[in-house]
Amino acid sequence: MKWSQTLIPTLREAPADAEILSHKLLLRAGLARKLAGGVYTFLPMGLRALRKVEQIVREEMDRAGALEVLMPALQPSDIWRQSGRYETAADVLFKIKDSGDREWVLSATAEEVITTLTAGEINSYRQLPKNFYQISVKFRDEIRPRFGLMRAREFIMKDAYSFDTDDEAAQKTYQKMYDAYARIFARCGLKALAVEADTGVIGGKFSHEFMVPAETGENEVVFCEKCGYAANLEKAVSAAATAAGKAGAAIDKFATPGVATIAALARPPFNVPAEQQIKTLVYIANDKPIIILMRGDDQLNEAKLAGKIGSTVFRAATAGEIFAALGAHPGSLGAVKGTARGAFAGAVLADERLRGAAGMTTGANEDGFHLRNVSMERDVAVSQWADLRTVKAGEPCKNCGAAVQIRRAIEVGHVFKLGVKYSEKFNALYLDEAGNRKLAVMGCYGIGVTRTLQAVIEHCNDKDGIIWPISVAPYEVCITPLEVDAGSEVMKTAEALHAGLLERGVDVILDDRDERPGVKFKDTDLVGFPIRAAIGGKSLARGEVEIKPRGGAMQTAKTGAALETIVQLVKSRAQG
Ligand code: ATP
Ligand code: MG
Repeated sequence: MKWSQTLIPTLREAPADAEILSHKLLLRAGLARKLAGGVYTFLPMGLRALRKVEQIVREEMDRAGALEVLMPALQPSDIWRQSGRYETAADVLFKIKDSGDREWVLSATAEEVITTLTAGEINSYRQLPKNFYQISVKFRDEIRPRFGLMRAREFIMKDAYSFDTDDEAAQKTYQKMYDAYARIFARCGLKALAVEADTGVIGGKFSHEFMVPAETGENEVVFCEKCGYAANLEKAVSAAATAAGKAGAAIDKFATPGVATIAALARPPFNVPAEQQIKTLVYIANDKPIIILMRGDDQLNEAKLAGKIGSTVFRAATAGEIFAALGAHPGSLGAVKGTARGAFAGAVLADERLRGAAGMTTGANEDGFHLRNVSMERDVAVSQWADLRTVKAGEPCKNCGAAVQIRRAIEVGHVFKLGVKYSEKFNALYLDEAGNRKLAVMGCYGIGVTRTLQAVIEHCNDKDGIIWPISVAPYEVCITPLEVDAGSEVMKTAEALHAGLLERGVDVILDDRDERPGVKFKDTDLVGFPIRAAIGGKSLARGEVEIKPRGGAMQTAKTGAALETIVQLVKSRAQG
């Protein structure tokens, strides 16, 4: 390929809305352009890198025994109603209507489609196990699309769905996919860490996310350096102490004028430490208020709440809704029996850490008043206990007791053991050896292909631009003639090297632009081609070509040996 014939619109400055480094480099290196928020066009360089990531994913899926298929992006809404996710995943689904007023869903994922398919096509144990995958466009109505390809409305995902005869077989498939994921990210030049994850509204038994540590990552990972425990903050638990106690004195109501926060009640003259307070939160789910009780020093984990109520469709109640339910304003709320002065008739969810707590202080459901000596057991009608709190750095690890740490990371992949959740809903049954009808046991496995591509950029760069690992570079080698007059010795040498490398199967681009060497080198570094071969009049007079690996030291090769030197460099970089 000749540079002048392709399109590499590099930019000196990144557009102002590009927040993180990889997003800036994506645009500055001319890999992609934004059409609308979270919607991008891939330009030739970006697409080449993307295709290479896809190819690595494809090879590893094939190696793991998965079968490539391609499912529709346009899905009838009926199957989403059948799974129940038309409502529970409503917040991310793009829903559209055709001219006949029929509802459709744009593919956000494909459990519904694949399980409908297998329910029809698979009927005997002899056809199992089966694992299907596709690499295709997905649509999600993200509340805040941002960071370029990291959180987009339209993106490319590899999704796979496995069907096994029983739990044990499904576990083996899960492990195979887990191993394939580790290989995929390593081949892309990423150090991805597998962490325990929340199963969210996809549901299922357990799951792991593959995380690339990065300051700019949207996820937080709790990990223990001592025993290796690693979990998404959305799911992580710790051995943080619970506040046990015996109910003692009777409840005492006291005036707290102007006190509206946990922190204010902790200050003089009240001096009630946050850990002795009960925090009362009101949420609306299924159009009904629910009360959530946390220890005063704990934060609600909304992912855990979503898991508990089985839906991501909930929100914090407004002050008006709260007043209607409890008869007081935030700051004076509580759940002590008989204190609600509004119409509240919903559930009271309490965090496990409050179990057995006594001598607590909480709002009286009367503005400007609190109650002390509250015992959870004696005084609060809890409908359900649940783990709802967010782990904090420094708390003891649940496995070994050492202090845990929290680090930010980018989620590039996710593997789930689903069990029979979807098989049941879609009648994905098979006949076993004895002729009994059984439910297929499922797993599902996603990789954000476009997010992975940007994670590589976030991970591999320096002040001059991207440093592509050779495995996913748009081109492996860039040849840079310093003068480009047709027929000149320099250009002839460059063209011969270009032709020779192509013949040897190297992905090579020839920078035939009539630009100053400084401009060419700057662009080549910015786009991040792994190896640059510069040919100029002076070096040619010495019979030499200057070869520089991106981010490495310059070396020279005799003109006649340049081809072989570059081929070997590409090979050794591909292995390393
Ligand atoms: P997140 O927590 O980041 O929203 P998710 O849990 O919704 O991700 P999955 O449903 O497991 O994601 O999707 C599989 C993979 O698809 C994710 O691991 C991620 O790499 C990618 N992905 C998900 N949402 C987006 C998005 N909006 N833009 C780009 N990639 C995405
Ligand atoms: Mg999501």
